[in-house]
Amino acid sequence: MKKPTNLAWLLWLFLCAALIASAAGQGVNPYAPDTPEKGSVEAIAKLTTEARFGNPWVAYVPASDMVPSPTKYLGHIVGAEGELSSTAQIYGYFHKLAETSARVRVQVIGRSEEGRDILLVAIADEEGIRDLARLKAATAALADPRKTSPDAAETLIGSGRPIYYFNAGLHSTETGSPEMVMELAYRLAVSDQPMIRKIRSEVIVLINPVSEPDGRDKAVEWFYRYLKGKTDFDRLPPVSPPYWGRYVFHDNNRDTHQVALELSRAVNRMFFDFHPTVVHDLHESIPLLQTWNGTGPFNNNLDPILINEFFEMAFAEIGALTSMGMPGVWTWGFGEGWGHHYLDSIAVNHNSMGRGYETFGNATAETVERVLRPNEERYVDRPVTSREWYRPMPPGRKFRWSLRDNTNYMESGCLAILAYASKNAKEMLRDFYRKGYNSWQKGVKGSPFAFAIPEDQGDRRRVAQMVNLLMMQGIEVARADASFKVEEGEFPAGTYVVRLDQPYRNYAVDLLLPQEFPTDSPYAPYDDVSWAFPVHYGVEAKRIDDAKVKDVPVTPVQAGFEARGRISGAGPVFLLKDTGQEALLALRNRLAAFRVEIAEKPFKSGATDYPAGSWILADEKGLAEALKRAADELAVDFESSAAVPDVPRHESRLPRLAVWHTWADTESVGWVRYVLDREKIPYSYIRDDDIRAGRLRERYDIILFGHNYLSLQDQIQGIDRKFGPMPFTKTKEFPSQGVPDASEDITGGIGWAGMANLEKYLDGGGLLITLGNGSALALDGGLVRDVYRKSGAVFTPGAELKVKFARPDHPLAYGYPEVTSAFRTGLPVYDTGVASRRGVVLQWGTKLRTEDRDQAGPESGKPKDAKEQGKKEDIKMLVSGAVKGDDDLEGRPAILDLPAGRGRVLAFNFNPIHRDLNRSDYRLLWNALLNWNALPPAER
Ligand SMILES: [Zn+2]
Repeated sequence: MKKPTNLAWLLWLFLCAALIASAAGQGVNPYAPDTPEKGSVEAIAKLTTEARFGNPWVAYVPASDMVPSPTKYLGHIVGAEGELSSTAQIYGYFHKLAETSARVRVQVIGRSEEGRDILLVAIADEEGIRDLARLKAATAALADPRKTSPDAAETLIGSGRPIYYFNAGLHSTETGSPEMVMELAYRLAVSDQPMIRKIRSEVIVLINPVSEPDGRDKAVEWFYRYLKGKTDFDRLPPVSPPYWGRYVFHDNNRDTHQVALELSRAVNRMFFDFHPTVVHDLHESIPLLQTWNGTGPFNNNLDPILINEFFEMAFAEIGALTSMGMPGVWTWGFGEGWGHHYLDSIAVNHNSMGRGYETFGNATAETVERVLRPNEERYVDRPVTSREWYRPMPPGRKFRWSLRDNTNYMESGCLAILAYASKNAKEMLRDFYRKGYNSWQKGVKGSPFAFAIPEDQGDRRRVAQMVNLLMMQGIEVARADASFKVEEGEFPAGTYVVRLDQPYRNYAVDLLLPQEFPTDSPYAPYDDVSWAFPVHYGVEAKRIDDAKVKDVPVTPVQAGFEARGRISGAGPVFLLKDTGQEALLALRNRLAAFRVEIAEKPFKSGATDYPAGSWILADEKGLAEALKRAADELAVDFESSAAVPDVPRHESRLPRLAVWHTWADTESVGWVRYVLDREKIPYSYIRDDDIRAGRLRERYDIILFGHNYLSLQDQIQGIDRKFGPMPFTKTKEFPSQGVPDASEDITGGIGWAGMANLEKYLDGGGLLITLGNGSALALDGGLVRDVYRKSGAVFTPGAELKVKFARPDHPLAYGYPEVTSAFRTGLPVYDTGVASRRGVVLQWGTKLRTEDRDQAGPESGKPKDAKEQGKKEDIKMLVSGAVKGDDDLEGRPAILDLPAGRGRVLAFNFNPIHRDLNRSDYRLLWNALLNWNALPPAER
């Protein structure tokens, strides 16, 4: 026998000592080299409802003499029953962590609409934190393969690290992740486990602990006000406060293309600062841990490397957790992989990797019994309790579930994937570089080679905003130095040119070409299937396949530029040609002190033709200066005229506008507020309580009822009265509540009394505008008559469709061509009676309804000659996205203008303000606000 080496001898001695200690009943430390913080093992075991919902990684909190644990800071262990932390507490802990550990750094990356900081925490070994600037420079260099050759990239990869970023606290009722990340960060900073040491030395971990801080505080206070102590899960009061952020709740991760909300802007800035290799969102909705990737169809513009990464990383997590005996960890089967407009998608869209978890949150912090009913909890039409290739160990059907269970799953998943990143660090960086390289080369080698966006398309401001948005997405835009000619046409000097030989080429193509979702896919889309900017801004971006475009001399555009308007001449009369400018509502408000008249017919002045909808402003004191300011701000043009043109016209009077929200769903109307606030349009924001109180006609000219996801019953009756009175008010104890609107009781909706008041308002001559599903209140609720809900399987999952004005002379048509397009999500289809087209202002598609075709005889549907065929059949309803069952939608009303008492209802069968995306639809609503006092008599 060989003499043992010193090391082996020492190990042998240690093992003997351990065995002796064990035999003596003192127990081995199974968490060595860490020492568990006193009481942590017992506390976690007690809070974990079944042993299999935990594992050795998260069964203890490591002790540290230098760095305070979350337990010491909060006074309880993370995931304790009945405890949730406010944003201030969470940020306080992270600041403490950064003060006491050289492995942690914090910085502020943004500020919410309500003024709360958005924090970013970086964790790595001391060297990683010290070298952060160099490591960031390395990922930035890898992001641009034009400047970094494959050889140079290898050198950077050799000394670089992947940056793994987490968004916690995004959806505010998904309460677990902001708690969990405190323990995760602490463990990463202090643990001496070999796995953790390797993560620290190979990876930079970034955590945004409360992505939606306004919503976090409202949700935490809501828990303490209404949920604490209640454990019957099926009988809980509403688990969400009526607001999260100032404008929206669940939609707060759906604007990654538009970058509208402050939290999205913060993540957008973070992304281009760090170029993280992975952006990972932490959600809670599905048992027990679903790791995203998508069923397919996958977006055509994704690099194949990315699709591989989706699955490789997901199975690394499933493997790690399943092998520790944790049930219910699975992938695939949720979401489709086609639409990438979520917060994490910023990474997918920019050659990094975007992903997320759904763990099983209770919303409440109490421990409750959860039942998984096979008929209800289904994904891709399989019960979540079934065993599948993508779900090797399904969850059980009934179990008690705690905040700590949720913490265990989420934290273990994060540790598993960070361990994966530490082992595959170089490959991950190399794939990041390759995806950018491939994207750039695609634009170098193949068509399209560019997109050309003419500057003057009737609304220079909207074009400028779209171009700025492209640049906010890191897409480079230039302007043609002189006019140029390519196969696709001739373009004037100043045309915006998006050349595609750039690293974000794939994203540019995705954003600039209409989407074509494959409707034969067996898997339904999860959300919108159309997002192309030109489609939804109503702006042309011409695809250029002619390689000559590469030789066009261009100058790069600087981000943040603004378009300006012009004033020709000195009056005394000024004319504004209506070319569909979105800014006209803002303009009317900027000119509130002046008389504005709107032409009802086309007219000519000098050499210019003015369509109906154009403005006439007669000389008034101070008008010229006001127009100058407005032209500068809103990029609108004014021409002088010697006299007021002889044309039928009406005065545009500013309405007393009320924007009404139900307490049961404030979200979509939040986007309406978002846009009105941005445009600085005054309005009264009114509640169910105000509708109930009545005297509406005395106060308002227009009541706007927004899109919502409520049944008619809920639109009227609101949150069940049995939970009332339920105040949403700011108090000393609950200082975050009561904004942006408050009530002593948010239950009960408008009730029948409110419906009666709306009827009185309409009888008195009021105008009610209903958007999207909000139209059910008027149409199904009976405020107007002779409109019926149609059966049929119309499928428009967030798609842009052709529409046609049935009444092109109606003021709602001002600024639009007779055939245009609008954005439609899943909504019921309505129609007037078979014989009648009464009230239809705008219709879906360009053709007759099926009934009208039938009515006109069997031959009527067939075109009489080839020319007519071209006219009738060539206009497809779909512009971008997907549509099914078009025949049941063709010819049906998209906007109805119907009499109600002495007043009227304008009912939209779509939501003209959807997530600040469908900009070309806004004018339809603005036209109603600009011409409300001069709408033609409603058809009776
Ligand atoms: Zn969520």
